[in-house]
Amino acid sequence: MDNEFTSTAFYTKLKEDRQLVGVKCKDCGHLSPEPRPMCPQCHGFNMEWHQFSGKAKLSTFTCISIVPVTMAAKGYGRNNPYCTGIVTLEEGPQISAMINGVDGTNPQGIETGMDLVLDPDHLDEVTPSLAFKPA
Ligand SMILES: [Zn+2]
Repeated sequence: MDNEFTSTAFYTKLKEDRQLVGVKCKDCGHLSPEPRPMCPQCHGFNMEWHQFSGKAKLSTFTCISIVPVTMAAKGYGRNNPYCTGIVTLEEGPQISAMINGVDGTNPQGIETGMDLVLDPDHLDEVTPSLAFKPA
């Protein structure tokens, strides 16, 4: 692994290794699901890549039917809303992500606390966004 904690390196790892990686502070052990060169807890620069399991639970979600142009181009819209949310990784950190494999027209059928796994097939290269799907 290289030591360049950039979002480019992050998404390369996601796409090529199909693994969710973040960074871990070698000084205080703080885990961050986003690549960053500096520890948000102790402000140290002694970071290393950390591989997450990709398992998570759904914390909150929103189904979006008024969609931006980029999402409309993918077929999302009033009749096919997409869902985004905050997931809590098995290791503790929270991260925002697309929630795939759920029925956006029936939000009542989506349960917070449900088990999710990383969905590496649905990364958006233009606006990189993580995606999870029901486990
Ligand atoms: Zn630290």
